[in-house]
Amino acid sequence: MTHPRTITILGATGSIGTSTLDLIQRNPDQFEVVALTANGDVAGLAKAARAVNARHAVIGDEARLPELRAALSGTNISAAGGGDAIIEAAQMGADYTMCAIVGCAGLRPVMAALASGKSVALANKEALVSAGDLMIAAARASGATLLPVDSEHNAIFQCLAGNSLDSVSKIILTASGGPFRTLSLAEMAHLTPAQAVKHPNWSMGAKISVDSATMMNKGLELIEAHHLFPVGAEKFDVLVHPQSIIHSMVEYVDGSVLAQLGTPDMRTPIAHTLAWPTRMESPSPRLNLAEIGSLTFEAPDPVRFPAIRLARAALTAGGAAPAILNAANEIAVAAFLAGEIGFLDIAATVEAVLTRYQPAPPHSLEDVLAIDTKARQEAHLVIEMKVSAC
Ligand code: NAD
Ligand code: MG
Repeated sequence: MTHPRTITILGATGSIGTSTLDLIQRNPDQFEVVALTANGDVAGLAKAARAVNARHAVIGDEARLPELRAALSGTNISAAGGGDAIIEAAQMGADYTMCAIVGCAGLRPVMAALASGKSVALANKEALVSAGDLMIAAARASGATLLPVDSEHNAIFQCLAGNSLDSVSKIILTASGGPFRTLSLAEMAHLTPAQAVKHPNWSMGAKISVDSATMMNKGLELIEAHHLFPVGAEKFDVLVHPQSIIHSMVEYVDGSVLAQLGTPDMRTPIAHTLAWPTRMESPSPRLNLAEIGSLTFEAPDPVRFPAIRLARAALTAGGAAPAILNAANEIAVAAFLAGEIGFLDIAATVEAVLTRYQPAPPHSLEDVLAIDTKARQEAHLVIEMKVSAC
């Protein structure tokens, strides 16, 4: 009998973390959980840690450690708290680490997981956008296997199997277009956070749901794809496909186009990374194309959705620009969710920060983190100016 694979989940209480736990709980003999981490959801973390009998549970908000200890009393699960404890959890050398923290807050833990040289499943796209070159170099240095969880990148990974990147003529990232795909700019100006987090196809955390609504998610994914599949920035296309059935496509030099299809359920790409290079059962609903009837496609509208243009420009500029794009977007999305700025102000804030702040390219993780911090400050200033101008 083969030994169970050891697993750590960073961001275990979120949408991706919960889906990963669901798959693990359906296959208890195959996986052994080393560590689960969360930011502030003590109850969710303790419940998950008990359910999978994790060895360690870590809460990012250190002030809540006594609460976590109390919630785990009577178990053998060790409890820890704080940012450094999350990094220690990432360094525990699990065979497979799911990186599902949202935002650049996940960057240090991702780098720590990569240093172990094991399998690192990446959902945390913001880390790759901000520090892609460093992350790829770290994976190379340690021999870690970076497995893409994001549905588009997982689809591309599957479509590339057995082929050389040299034979790729185009990579087509599909996008649902989000909940506001058909709205006018005038209508978009008055949208509420509650409307923005209601995605038509996917059930996701609040931040990525807003990113899908602005289509910044697709912009971040362009940069993510560039690091994972280095075929040249000009070979990436974005195609709006409202049904979210084709998760992305690869076109080859001979004219063949390979696509990966499935119902919009993140348990499919997560299961693909959990079992890779083999396959495992997933409870995702099966695809019934006769019932769906038609798949439709359209070009993205750069006027109503400027985020893709901003991300493409940041990708072309390189250097610090992707980290600034990401940091400014994180602050703008948080401000929108807090009711401080309007929906259209999100992309406008990102553009303003990219114009105001143009530092030298980063060469180290510390450089990236310093740029991230400064870009957040700039974003707050831009937002304050917008608010006081109203
Ligand atoms: P979520 O908000 O549901 O969960 C985020 C998790 O990260 C939670 O466990 C939270 O406790 C933890 N976390 C948040 N801030 C933290 C901090 N400062 N320090 C430590 N931990 C922190 O988010 P999600 O939808 O699961 O997304 C997670 C990541 O996966 C994001 O980068 C997102 O872009 C990416 N992703 C998500 C989906 C999806 O379907 N949800 C699909 C593709 C990619
Ligand atoms: Mg995606």
